[in-house]
Amino acid sequence: METGGSIFNAMLQEFDGAARLLGLDPGVWKILTHPKRQITVSLPVQMDNGEIEVFTGYRVQYNITLGPAKGGIRYHPGVTLDEVTALAAWMTWKCAVAHVPFGGGKGGIIVDPNRLSRRELEALTRRYIAEIVDAIGPEKDVPAPDVNTNDQIMAWIMDTYSMHVGHTATAVVTGKPIEMGGSLGRREATGRGVMIVTREAAKHLGLEIKEARVAVQGFGNVGSVSADLLSKQGARIVAVTDWKGGVYNDKGLDITKMLDYAKQHKSIDGFPGGETIDNPKLFALDVDVLVPAALENQITLENAPTIRAKIVAEGANGPTTPDAHKYLHERGVFVIPDILANAGGVTTSYFEWVQDRHGYFWEEDEVNKRLEAKMCEAFKDVLDTSIRYKTDLRTAAYLVAISRVATVTKMRGMYA
Ligand code: GLU
Repeated sequence: METGGSIFNAMLQEFDGAARLLGLDPGVWKILTHPKRQITVSLPVQMDNGEIEVFTGYRVQYNITLGPAKGGIRYHPGVTLDEVTALAAWMTWKCAVAHVPFGGGKGGIIVDPNRLSRRELEALTRRYIAEIVDAIGPEKDVPAPDVNTNDQIMAWIMDTYSMHVGHTATAVVTGKPIEMGGSLGRREATGRGVMIVTREAAKHLGLEIKEARVAVQGFGNVGSVSADLLSKQGARIVAVTDWKGGVYNDKGLDITKMLDYAKQHKSIDGFPGGETIDNPKLFALDVDVLVPAALENQITLENAPTIRAKIVAEGANGPTTPDAHKYLHERGVFVIPDILANAGGVTTSYFEWVQDRHGYFWEEDEVNKRLEAKMCEAFKDVLDTSIRYKTDLRTAAYLVAISRVATVTKMRGMYA
């Protein structure tokens, strides 16, 4: 079925399939397919050349039934309200699958941050937070990093919010620098989660992760850490692409060297360890595992027939269109859906929020041990559900998520 290019419609298609299987109450169905709150703000910024530019920012709180809204903020020229709403819905289902007490939210600013100076980036971030300051807070809505945002931006968010409320409020945002209330292990958590579920999927399918050949699309926070940790499990990373270029080496790429190279050059383009490769070729490689860790709508009906991977681990949010997903599932590809595969980030964000609220911080081993347990539990819940309902893992993840949110929606009852 066509989604008309709308990412929110793609989310609805996934939702409806699972809601039907579950026999979801029609009233709850209606509630869960509408965003609770969508905020649009105009953000004037004085640029370094003295001129004023006005950017547009969004924050969507899709659902807060299970707890404060939770989800990242992305800076990208392609951001739309439709996309942010879909991403906020996916955060709702992701938090429910990961079994952490949060609702779902997401934010975005239409901007190419690479074209801003550091001062302009800080001014934009602070103005955005000032505009949404009444809507966020440790008990209300807790942002985090996403595409093109990092720990420095989270530090500015924490500071701006704290200045407005008149005291230091570390738990208003996660993914902060360690020195100011960040959690050890948070930066690596999404990639670590991808590694854990890929390893569990391989175990389930009787594949050896040690011999697995892996291709990774994207070398940002998620793609780079997934590649690094999978290679540390003994897998061979044969290809990586990013926003600028790509590298292929059948014998395997040295990910440690690639991480250094990417830090220096802001891209892996030109990395000397192999030949050049583009995305269509990367998708078509003869690999065991494909990790799409870039943006939405990357795997479509056009390129899905070329995919030879046995496992697709969705590091990105929404990388596979519903039609392409159906096609891959019918061909027997084991697709680990985004709301499970990349839930490691928000799970460790939950740990960060808990540590901030306690004012007591855990060792990195403790964080990683708890993440391992949470990801394995989520993987098992989804796998067991897929077997019980004889369905694909994405539908099973939605079944788990919707039933958890629906149960509490009914328990809380209707106010009005
Ligand atoms: N942006 C990440 C995601 O899409 C993390 C969100 C969070 O930690 O709140 O899951």
